[in-house]
Amino acid sequence: MTRIEVDHVSHRYGQGPLARLVLDDISVELAERRLGVVGHNGSGKSTFVRMLNALLIPSSGTVRVNGLETGKDAAKVRKQAGFLFTDPDNQIIMPTVAEDVAFGLRKSGLSRAQVAERVEQALARYGLDGHREHPAHLLSGGQKQLLALASVLITEPELIIMDEPTTLLDLRNARMIGRVIAELPQTVVLATHHLDLLDDFDRVLVFDSGRLVADGAPAEAVAHYRALMS
Ligand code: ADP
Repeated sequence: MTRIEVDHVSHRYGQGPLARLVLDDISVELAERRLGVVGHNGSGKSTFVRMLNALLIPSSGTVRVNGLETGKDAAKVRKQAGFLFTDPDNQIIMPTVAEDVAFGLRKSGLSRAQVAERVEQALARYGLDGHREHPAHLLSGGQKQLLALASVLITEPELIIMDEPTTLLDLRNARMIGRVIAELPQTVVLATHHLDLLDDFDRVLVFDSGRLVADGAPAEAVAHYRALMS
């Protein structure tokens, strides 16, 4: 089980008079397997989740993942924590589907045959085995997000952070990604506007103007968020 400790974290973008405080003194400890993050656009969700795998280091305060401080051990934290972006085009890097999935294993020390076997398994798991040699950019939106997820999972992270992974998808593909998420054995931190994805989650954090304003079971937290919107 992944343990995340966020201790008095604040974050500013920009410097001097133009600096804007976008996270304001967040302290929270997370050890559940399914964690949701909700809030209006601009509330700081993305900034918060990017801190959990050291994509961003807080201006002040500390984030620890399994005891590793992101500001000091960023590379080790990133090995443990995979990140799925809203737009899969931002993380699909290789020309073909199979090459993209294999990319994460380039420094793994595995033999070519072992890499090929793992890639095959990952493609089969997500129904992409018929697209092995296809250009990744020709996949549908839902398939691209599955490919991005397969490329993250192949490195076997124990924590997967997802920043609105279904926002660009139609309802059917969003549900499909939701089912895939539900089956992941790893710890998942999911920032989303698709609130129904959080029904079975263990805990949901609600952000508003850079502050953590509610934290609890999905039903209560989502009710709090809906009340903020009304
Ligand atoms: P959310 O994910 O809830 O939409 P974000 O964390 O993306 O919120 O953004 C919080 C605030 O920080 C927003 O006002 C946004 O405009 C601002 N922001 C985000 N990224 C940057 C950046 N790289 N530089 C300056 N401001 C940013």
